[in-house]
Amino acid sequence: RKLERLVPDNTDGRPGGKSFDFSSLENARQLKIQRAAAEMLQIDVPFFRPHDVRAAAHTRIGNREYINFSSYDYCGLNGDPRVTAAAQEAMERFGTSVSASRVVSGERPFHREFEKNIARFLGVEDAVVMVSGHATNVTTIGHLLGPNDLVLADAFIHNSIVEGVRLAGATRLTFRHNDMDHLAELLSAKRHQFNRVLIAVEGLYSMDGDTPPLDRLVRLKTRHDAWLLVDEAHALGVVGPTGRGLAEREGIDPNAVEIWMGTLSKTLASCGGFIAGSTALVEYLKATAPGFVFSVGIPPSVAAAANAALLALEAEPERVARLVHNGRHFLKAARAAGLDTGTAEGLAVLPVIIGDSIVSALVAHRLAEAGVNVQPIIFPAVPEQAARLRFFVNATHSEDDIDTAVRLTAEILERTRKDGAGLSQLAA
Ligand code: PMP
Repeated sequence: RKLERLVPDNTDGRPGGKSFDFSSLENARQLKIQRAAAEMLQIDVPFFRPHDVRAAAHTRIGNREYINFSSYDYCGLNGDPRVTAAAQEAMERFGTSVSASRVVSGERPFHREFEKNIARFLGVEDAVVMVSGHATNVTTIGHLLGPNDLVLADAFIHNSIVEGVRLAGATRLTFRHNDMDHLAELLSAKRHQFNRVLIAVEGLYSMDGDTPPLDRLVRLKTRHDAWLLVDEAHALGVVGPTGRGLAEREGIDPNAVEIWMGTLSKTLASCGGFIAGSTALVEYLKATAPGFVFSVGIPPSVAAAANAALLALEAEPERVARLVHNGRHFLKAARAAGLDTGTAEGLAVLPVIIGDSIVSALVAHRLAEAGVNVQPIIFPAVPEQAARLRFFVNATHSEDDIDTAVRLTAEILERTRKDGAGLSQLAA
């Protein structure tokens, strides 16, 4: 509140009478408040800091080395020589762009190669790859649903699904995070009022690091004649003994789920998104989804990198085992140090919940001073009482990296909370 007052409200828009001042838009105030807070706390704004190297278990920012927990290269495949070589070869043969929508002249052999490989890997009929993970959700949901439809989304669902529902003009209701009884209640109360119903969940939640009960979801969607979408952006390469995701872990036939969504930007060390499922779904999207039909095909180096990373993941399941080991190690160490990891299951995404945005930002700053790079997640990205540090653990961290980070986090958090008097004055 106090910080709000530091930034004068200036929503009338046209200072100086020249061109429109976009910094006067209401949402832009958030940025000003962040800057004012950082200045007051005498810390750097913890966003947009350029890394000077490939960020893996370690990184460099401005000539300083850090143990890095802010990158979602979960299986350590970014920069793998096979992945880089595949990207280079594709670029040499096909150039840097496919220079058209795939529908009209942009189709190249590597598109179908990746799609067939990812569909086979997941155990479904087919897949379609698009240029962005976020846009994949937006265009797929925006296109498959309409104003007479309902989306029942987990309360912690990713923004790309929310935006897709907005585009569709469908109704969105949220059920409490991972609360299947609440979902069942909503289905019983609302199903009959709508034409189609889509239940949307994540395979591994990107802020809390927990997973939904797939068996109950499949039973509920079957009973209530709904569709199920599972966004596996963070689950691919992470969940299930060989990284095939939630269906593999739960021993459920992946074909029981209508829509599997995933990204190329995490374990697959690239950029883009995909939808995997039945041949009919994939053919329909390829023929009609605006974000696919009216957008360029994914570029050669990008698709080839994802394909090579996928093949490496498939050939080397020990990467997943190492990642699982590291995640569990982090969780155990964090709990032993008295840190609040919420509902995290020890699967690559490990929050340390602090419950105060200013303390979270300060702890992240002090951790950086001590050589650990971790991102604070603060209001409004999460509610104030859920402000946290989010650690992404990957397969290439050593136990020593993890132990060091946990020990420093516990020490610095305690010290920062003790500084509390000054802070609470600031936040009052
Ligand atoms: N879904 C989820 C659950 C995500 O966390 C993200 C982004 N991190 C996306 C979709 C969008 O993917 P991308 O960043 O690859 O566009």
